[in-house]
Amino acid sequence: SREVHLVARPEGEPEPSDFALVEATVPDPGPDQILVRNHWISVDPYMRGRMKDVESYIPPFRLDEVMTGGAVGTVVDSNLDGVAAGTTVRHFLGWREHALLDPGSFEIVDTTIAPAQAYLGVLGLTGLTAYAGLKRIAPVAKGEVVFVSGAAGAVGSTAAQLAKCLGAAKVIGSAGGPEKSKRIVEDFGYDAAVDYKAGDVEGQLRAAAPDGIDVYFDNVGGDHLRAALATLRPHGRVALCGAISQYNAAEPVPGPDNLFLAVGKRLTLRGFIAGDHVDLAPEYARLAAVLLRDGRLRSEETVVAGIENAVEAFLGLLRGANTGKMLVRL
Ligand code: NDP
Repeated sequence: SREVHLVARPEGEPEPSDFALVEATVPDPGPDQILVRNHWISVDPYMRGRMKDVESYIPPFRLDEVMTGGAVGTVVDSNLDGVAAGTTVRHFLGWREHALLDPGSFEIVDTTIAPAQAYLGVLGLTGLTAYAGLKRIAPVAKGEVVFVSGAAGAVGSTAAQLAKCLGAAKVIGSAGGPEKSKRIVEDFGYDAAVDYKAGDVEGQLRAAAPDGIDVYFDNVGGDHLRAALATLRPHGRVALCGAISQYNAAEPVPGPDNLFLAVGKRLTLRGFIAGDHVDLAPEYARLAAVLLRDGRLRSEETVVAGIENAVEAFLGLLRGANTGKMLVRL
């Protein structure tokens, strides 16, 4: 059974040599434990933060140990009453082919609603992040204009679709390159696209929203946040979800130089971590099930095969190799 270890803390962009694929023996489950064969593992931008040895909302990965992350798999051996072999579960011991799990450290998922891997994406933390951002952190009201950065990605593409379901009149997205910009309009229901790689994010945003925006869902930070501050209407709201433009920065990056606009425009900027909003999960799960069934929510994925390619999937994610959720199928 193979697993991925972090063997060096990256400076700037991570390198394949910062990781190692390690052979491990398949453990036997002890009393009340289950053994799971992972079939899907999640690679996520926040994992870049865990590679740094700094205090954060989640502890750093330890060197020369298997990394952790979201995973879905099938129970292959069980000593736990009520959980039979063949059950599909979601848990947090990813980056490995087999996981040994204690009671309380996994959830059984219902694969009749959606395929197993959706529980790492649109029906997982990705979906909850998008929902919490637009329902609680920067609530969208009917008829409003919403701007989403990281628009072709997992959280962004879900946020855009949810914004429409929550009543937004117009949703503008930003993505890297002409192809992705075209796809977000054609496939994810955005009304207009900003191609940030073409430059002048603010100019493109203003052209797409001549009367301004009401809500900004920020996955990117930097120039995108600056452009949103300039374009937000009075009493606008910003959900600070991520800042992927700076995750590989080796030095501190300057903040937006126009933050003072938040004063005169009475803006609300609020950061959040989806895990603090799990109370919204049941209502989101009910809504998402209906939207998926009606085709109003699409579960988009980019799939890389094999644990030996998990690192490449992660590195690709940071470079924009994905549309929708980046997943590794084992
Ligand atoms: P994505 O699927 O959005 O993948 C990352 C995307 O980031 C890439 O596809 C790429 O798209 C884009 N990107 C990479 N570098 C840059 C850059 N310099 N400028 C702009 N875009 C860039 O990942 P997720 O949906 O999982 O995560 C999106 C954001 O949400 C991240 O910032 C993440 O940290 C955050 N997040 C926050 C959570 C929370 O609880 N607060 C929970 C989950 C995610 P492109 O090709 O368009 O460049």
